[in-house]
Amino acid sequence: MVKRGSMKILFLEYKFRDFTDSELLLPKADGVIAALERLNRSRWSQIKRCFSWKGISFTSLPGGDVCPASDVAFDFLITKIKSACKYKPDIIWFDHLRFEGHWEDPSKENLGFHKECQYCKGRDRSQLILALANRALGAVTSQTKTGYFAVPFKMEDCSWIADVLGQDHKKLGEVFDSVSPMLYHRMIGKPVSYISEYSQYLFKLGIKAEIIPIVQLKDMPDYLEDKLTVNEIQKEVREAVKLPSAGVAFFSWDQAIEKNKIVPVSSFLRSI
Ligand SMILES: [Zn+2]
Repeated sequence: MVKRGSMKILFLEYKFRDFTDSELLLPKADGVIAALERLNRSRWSQIKRCFSWKGISFTSLPGGDVCPASDVAFDFLITKIKSACKYKPDIIWFDHLRFEGHWEDPSKENLGFHKECQYCKGRDRSQLILALANRALGAVTSQTKTGYFAVPFKMEDCSWIADVLGQDHKKLGEVFDSVSPMLYHRMIGKPVSYISEYSQYLFKLGIKAEIIPIVQLKDMPDYLEDKLTVNEIQKEVREAVKLPSAGVAFFSWDQAIEKNKIVPVSSFLRSI
């Protein structure tokens, strides 16, 4: 068992290629979250060889015009859950558990939000997402824990998180074991201190889920020149592990390799 606040988790996208064992072992992380959509038996064998705590993430909903309140969306989610559980992970992570909409740059005028349709017309979207989660969680094998990735804004600042995207963290934080707010602070134009501020915010909502902020390792989206320094990544980590956080996750280990940061970031992670 790792002590509270100290868990270190690598998100594996398999964006370019496979990892070598030494690339995975270098930071002495406690576990991984691997992307289901690129996972296979050989990659899973490597993960089992290198880590005791193993998570799998998947895109929960098809997106586009498919309404999360439709049967198509529910069937899509159940298929993902069943495929993930076949690997017998310790935890599965629901990504994109929400109505469609581009949250990454809230200054943009057209956020591409899902328009009302026959399934969601006049209904409370956060209740619909909660109901979907509750129904779908019944398909998770009993020994597997669950988590979700949270759009990282405060509901009092951005009411559209719950009203339009349907992510009410107070409600979802009661039904999942873990919540991982996507605190890519530079991408959303926040200071690094926002990382711990946001963990505190979630904690004060009184949720039962443990909080594991996920932080960025390079500037995103990909078309941006990467100006995120290792020094700033160290600040991110210090912010992310402040209590009441249970640890820190990194998006993504592929990106650390892409930007030649794996050695200095690993060296820092081994030291904390
Ligand atoms: Zn709809």
